[in-house]
Amino acid sequence: MPSFRNELHLNDLEVALALEGEERRQQDGVELIPSENYTYPEVLELLGSVFTNKYSEGYPGRRYYGGQEFTDQIENLARQRACALFRAEHANVQPLSGSPMNQAVYLGLLQPGDTILAMDLSHGGHLTHGAPVSHMGRLFNFARYKTQPSNGGAIDFDELRAMARNVRPKLVLCGYSSYPRDLDYASFKSIADEVGALTMADVSHYGGLIAGNALRNPLDAGFDVMTTTSHKTLRGPRGGIVLCRREFAGKIDASVFPGLQGGPHMNVVAGTAVTLKKASTPDFHAYAKLVMRNAKVLAEALMEHGMTLITGGTDNHMMVVDTVASVGLDGGAAENILDAVGVTANKQIIPDDPRPPLKPSGIRLGTPAATTRGMGEPEMRLIAELIAESLRSKGDAAVVKRLRSNSVEMCRAFPVPGIAPPS
Ligand SMILES: *Cc1c(COP(=O)(O)O)cnc(C)c1O
Repeated sequence: MPSFRNELHLNDLEVALALEGEERRQQDGVELIPSENYTYPEVLELLGSVFTNKYSEGYPGRRYYGGQEFTDQIENLARQRACALFRAEHANVQPLSGSPMNQAVYLGLLQPGDTILAMDLSHGGHLTHGAPVSHMGRLFNFARYKTQPSNGGAIDFDELRAMARNVRPKLVLCGYSSYPRDLDYASFKSIADEVGALTMADVSHYGGLIAGNALRNPLDAGFDVMTTTSHKTLRGPRGGIVLCRREFAGKIDASVFPGLQGGPHMNVVAGTAVTLKKASTPDFHAYAKLVMRNAKVLAEALMEHGMTLITGGTDNHMMVVDTVASVGLDGGAAENILDAVGVTANKQIIPDDPRPPLKPSGIRLGTPAATTRGMGEPEMRLIAELIAESLRSKGDAAVVKRLRSNSVEMCRAFPVPGIAPPS
């Protein structure tokens, strides 16, 4: 046992036990929340390194505090690697997470009250895309576009064009947290150009799949700004990265600091630098493709078990199961049953969901974390069985008990990076 564990046990038993419990939970459970992943052991170490002690307000070469020779090195590395990886002209790696990252872009490039065209929350957009409960939703005038059932559940660009002509947005925003398809960035760009709007893609969920050349890169279609978290498919520490064209570099940097934040978290920036280097390797490209292959296998197996998927499948790392239509259970009840089986998923609203957010119509599943552990096609088929059988039993205690021991046994064969295997 490393000595920090001994210290923690002696000084704070409650937190020590919670840490052990969380490790056991992550080791013994199947993680299917599509926004989660297991970061690299090197990143875990860097997060706990002395870089956390350092204040680095400002940017490399122009900081407000001394002692920056090594923090400047890691931030420059992270910025250069981000630009190379995503074919971007400028990168800011300081946002403390995905939400402040998006806020910094809106506040840096627009004026309060400006109109932003963004994807509706229930159709897959994120809270920070102007959901009425978010502060950004009060500060800016969001117009929300939707997916169309008549279009196979995809975005209808004729409708989007008509909407853009009507509301004259200053910014056209795309990207999603709950939409199982790739996006046609060229169409977004042509609509934005027609009305003189800026373009922004928030690829927080699938930045790693773009880095791995498995999904399209909006910057290749001429987008002005792209934002991504570093901790989802990219597998890094929790943080945000803004990528943009050179002409917006000054506005974006000033908006992140001093506009929105104080000192960046340099322990995170160090982890981001390592993550971006790893994401440029052939191994990571193979990983990105496997994530999507596993998602296809899981989606198809679920449909073979009679489950109804929104849009009828997936082209990325995630899928949304309509549990009400499939088995007559709301997403909250389904999430609880799956938790008992050792499968972690999240309840999810579906397009124009008539049900409330805590008892929505579905669940959202994704394969980035399971793929990181090394799970492949056989495991995806087994997981589909665990899900379908447990939900169909409506959480019958005997069924759940049997399935839980199957899932724990499967997990034992796939150690979690950064957790010592059970002895
Ligand atoms: C996760 C996510 C965010 C926010 O990231 P946090 O780190 O949770 O603040 C923003 N946009 C999209 C599309 C996301 O999926």
